[in-house]
Amino acid sequence: MLKMITDPDILEAYNEDALGFKGEFNGLFRPDSESEVMDIVRDCASKKRFLTPQGLRSSLTGAAICEKGAVLSLERMNRLIDIDVKRKMAVVEPGIVLSDFKKSVEEAGLMYAPDPTSAGECTLGGNVATNASGSRSLKYGATIDWVQGLRVIDGTGRALAVNNSPVEKMCAGYGAVYRPARLFVGSEGTLGVVTKIHVSLTRQPANLFLAMVFFQDLRSAVDFIIETHEKIELRPASMEFLDRMCLDIIRPNAKGIAIPSDAQAMIYFEQEYDDDSEKDACLDLWFPLIEKHTPLADDTQIADSPKEKKHLYDLRHHVPARTNEESIKVVRAGGCKISTDWAVPHNHLHQLFAYFNEIRGPLGDMMVICFGHLGSGHPHFNFIARNSAETAIAQKIDDLMAEKAVALGGCVSAEHGIGKMKRRQLALQYPAPVINAMKALKREFDPAGIMSPGNIFLTE
Ligand SMILES: Cc1cc2nc3c(=O)[nH]c(=O)nc-3n(C[C@H](O)[C@H](O)[C@H](O)COP(=O)(O)OP(=O)(O)OC[C@H]3O[C@@H](n4cnc5c(N)ncnc54)[C@H](O)[C@@H]3O)c2cc1C
Repeated sequence: MLKMITDPDILEAYNEDALGFKGEFNGLFRPDSESEVMDIVRDCASKKRFLTPQGLRSSLTGAAICEKGAVLSLERMNRLIDIDVKRKMAVVEPGIVLSDFKKSVEEAGLMYAPDPTSAGECTLGGNVATNASGSRSLKYGATIDWVQGLRVIDGTGRALAVNNSPVEKMCAGYGAVYRPARLFVGSEGTLGVVTKIHVSLTRQPANLFLAMVFFQDLRSAVDFIIETHEKIELRPASMEFLDRMCLDIIRPNAKGIAIPSDAQAMIYFEQEYDDDSEKDACLDLWFPLIEKHTPLADDTQIADSPKEKKHLYDLRHHVPARTNEESIKVVRAGGCKISTDWAVPHNHLHQLFAYFNEIRGPLGDMMVICFGHLGSGHPHFNFIARNSAETAIAQKIDDLMAEKAVALGGCVSAEHGIGKMKRRQLALQYPAPVINAMKALKREFDPAGIMSPGNIFLTE
């Protein structure tokens, strides 16, 4: 069996995530094949050694951090096994870096749609385990919508092939298992190790333009989102939001893009189109909408050339990385970045923003940076807490907002998962019998309880 690495210097390199959180563990495995994974899991199950699978530790909930036992890194299992252009399917190993995979698919003339901002620093296995999504999920859905089959080594060391059936109709038992691969999506390493992934692909959009629209207040930006949803002819691929703090973050890099000094909010959107006449028809719909909702309509930026598009895209996508840098700084100084991950149906966004203003008092002068997938009803409020007292306050505000989101038909986590940071919120989302059913599923696949201790459930 593959030897466990115990050299503290090597272990240290696997002991910090994107937020700066650290764990405590005493071993590392770096398997190269599914059979090695199987041997490792069997051995750990027999010795009751805890095991946490890891992709590239870009998780934002502490999910990849190993608090006891050993880490199983999938970084060496990163092969692209097949792209079947005709069937629009691909098969990969879990450790493949998402941006590398997306590039290979593009070179084959197709598109793998899920697009988390972290594409260059996360793996497809991590995406499956967290059901990652991104800005284009507004049009294309999340990872779960693209996964068609998985191979998993469960917590006993059994190899399972779980494939969604391509039939359109099914009525065999409980509906939750009609698409069995879905059971393992979002499982955050608690049921086993994903060793192979089958995903569906789609055609590339013929053309795409990007736009940045500026607003003098948040309410108008939300109204703009709501009305866009009503114009079904538009169907933008993404509708992203940056608040005034984010505009201050991107301004020094804006080069050539004039960000109005009185802008309090910005909506970045992507519109796909087939040909020039469709593009003109889209612009004829967008401009009256923009003019209706903002006096800053003349400052709107439209990017159509590859260079301009890259510039706008990079500006928007620079913000999360900058915010995570703040996190690493405050974690090292005894604080923490707390990010909300709730989502609501977009027509309830006004209620959530108003509720935040009602309850924000205890935050005092704490830095709050808000950005995210507003078109999907999913903004992230990032609270930069400087010490443990501020962390507790920020967590309370996060919990209150998550509770409100659920009351309005939304969810506590729309893309980052539960991990170790949102476990309190699971009970806001589901009644006890549903949580118990998930725990029963874990007992079936991981009876020794060795897989990813501390993720998802408050108690095992
Ligand atoms: C700058 C930045 C931007 C981000 N933007 C987004 C975004 O737009 N959308 C989004 O959804 N997320 C985003 N994230 C969060 C993160 O990138 C995702 O959660 C990603 O899916 C994690 O992938 P990873 O390979 O880094 O997995 P890790 O962080 O290493 O692990 C995450 C979880 O998956 C489990 N896991 C990993 N591999 C396997 C496997 N093979 N089998 C079983 N379990 C496994 C781990 O145990 C852990 O529970 C962002 C993060 C950063 C740092």
